[in-house]
Amino acid sequence: MTGKPSQHHINFTLRKLVKQLLPFWEGVFYVRTARYFLGRRVFIALIPAVCDTEGAHQLSGFASHSHTYFCRRCLLQIGDIHNLVPETWIMRDPAQHRQLALKWKEASTEEERQKIYDEFGIRWSELLELPYWDPVLFTIIDDMHFAQLGLFETHLRDVWQIDHEKSGGDGKPPSLSKPNLRTLKALCQDLGIHYNSGDSKRILAARILDYIWADMKRTILPTWIQSPPPNWGTPAQGKLSAEEYKIVCSISLVITLVRVWGYGTEDAQSRHFQMLLNYLDLVHAVHVLLLRETSQQSREYYVFHMQRYLETVLVLYPDFTLKPNHHFSLHVVTDLETMGPGHARSTPVFERINHSLQELNANQHLGDFCVLYHWRMFGDHSF
Ligand SMILES: [Zn+2]
Repeated sequence: MTGKPSQHHINFTLRKLVKQLLPFWEGVFYVRTARYFLGRRVFIALIPAVCDTEGAHQLSGFASHSHTYFCRRCLLQIGDIHNLVPETWIMRDPAQHRQLALKWKEASTEEERQKIYDEFGIRWSELLELPYWDPVLFTIIDDMHFAQLGLFETHLRDVWQIDHEKSGGDGKPPSLSKPNLRTLKALCQDLGIHYNSGDSKRILAARILDYIWADMKRTILPTWIQSPPPNWGTPAQGKLSAEEYKIVCSISLVITLVRVWGYGTEDAQSRHFQMLLNYLDLVHAVHVLLLRETSQQSREYYVFHMQRYLETVLVLYPDFTLKPNHHFSLHVVTDLETMGPGHARSTPVFERINHSLQELNANQHLGDFCVLYHWRMFGDHSF
């Protein structure tokens, strides 16, 4: 498929995949293989769907993550996204999902389909033809998009509002309405009184970024860690990759912020110290999430830090609205329980394959080429 499919049009391509997969659920007998002279029965099942959130919702028939029912695991409405008590969320039922999706598929008009979609946030996915496919459990939350490009990037860009051009502040929302603020500034100018014109919401700004960049020059990273761009955070350096976000957020920022906001602070209730503790909860949680092993203990550790991080964000930055990724962060522990640690199903490897395919001249036969390419990479060692 060339380009990005819109809405349910991905089903055209999925149908081809499902048609190939279906016989393998019962088992397909190969009369002779390279390793088995007398033949071999082969079973194949498609379990996790690994994509970014937009792709995952489209693939499995869920509405967009900006829809009222934005979550593929529960029925919390987007207006209640600040509800951080999972015990109060009504979980989605895969059987009911299948029933509603079928109703959407069998609807006789586009209007009827739209009504079902608007009301329940569900549409048909060809993957539902697979009898074992559980759209709720198998549509997993990908680490790279949700944590590195989601939680870390959101904390820098939206919570701290990174901006090297500004003098920076402490992240507090303005206590005065904008018209009142303008009147006060005009009054100060008339009376010749000095006032701080800095934007108090911007935290990761000029001075603190200078500290971070200086510390990065003095930091010797292990050889297996690639250094992020030296002056990241400026338009000239461009956007950070997922891996660079991970390194900046879990190493560089920790080194500098602990030094600047942590040491020498006598008041444990000071705003900067509280912001540091809040940020470190996120770092702790993501660190455990990206480990190559998981256990009951590590999952509890993750939930404890992530839950405290989210609750404290709402206290420290009351005008900030949580994003779907924040909500998903409390569901992701289910993926760790059911699918194991994320590295084996994380998307960077698939993104690299996508990139390689996009770079190749396929002579307008991309579909045929994909099958051959994947077969060569993964297919000849199985049986
Ligand atoms: Zn949910």
